[in-house]
This record gives sequence, C-alpha cells and structure tokens, in this order.
Amino acid sequence: MQPLYQAADRIEAQLLQDLLARHRIEARVFGDYLSGAAGELPVDIYPSVWVLEDRELPRAKGLLDDWLREHRRRAEASAWVCRGCGELVDGSFDLCWRCGTEH
Ligand SMILES: [Zn+2]
Repeated sequence: MQPLYQAADRIEAQLLQDLLARHRIEARVFGDYLSGAAGELPVDIYPSVWVLEDRELPRAKGLLDDWLREHRRRAEASAWVCRGCGELVDGSFDLCWRCGTEH
C-alpha cells in the first residue's frame, strides 16, 4: 500500500477515492477522524488517500494529475475581473476581496 495524496478535507478525499474506484483502483482514506487513543494527539488531521496495490500507483498518479488540473481549470474559468479595481477575483467570491465591489 502506498500513499497517493493528502487531501484538504474528507470530501476531497472521498471524491478522489470515488474517481479511483471508477477506474478499478482500490484506495483507502486514512486520518479523516480522530481515532487516537485517549491522551494521544493526532499528528496529522488531514485525510490521506492510499492506493492498496503498489502496481496501480503510477496509474493512480496519472488520474490524480488530470483531476487536479481539471479542478484548477474550473477555478480559473469561474474567476472574474472586478469593474471597480480590475482585480482578478476567484469565482467562489461574490465581492471583490480588494475593494468590495459586487460581481
Ligand atoms: Zn475590486
């Protein structure tokens, strides 16, 4: 078993696991909940996705690269230019983070 990716949250880890499953690559998500024994502090609270079969790792990495690229492309496609100050604003914001002008 090999680590593939450290996700930002449980949802991202789950999405990646589903993607791999669709390509018949078995993966597990670890560290997405605090399962440590009493008094034991978790070192790492971010969930990580692991590929079960080592030989599937290169293929899984290829899928991961495409997946991340697609995410970035979508984030960039939805970005907008503020008419108040000309700033490029991420598509997830309705207000310009710089001057507060509405989209
Ligand atoms: Zn602005």
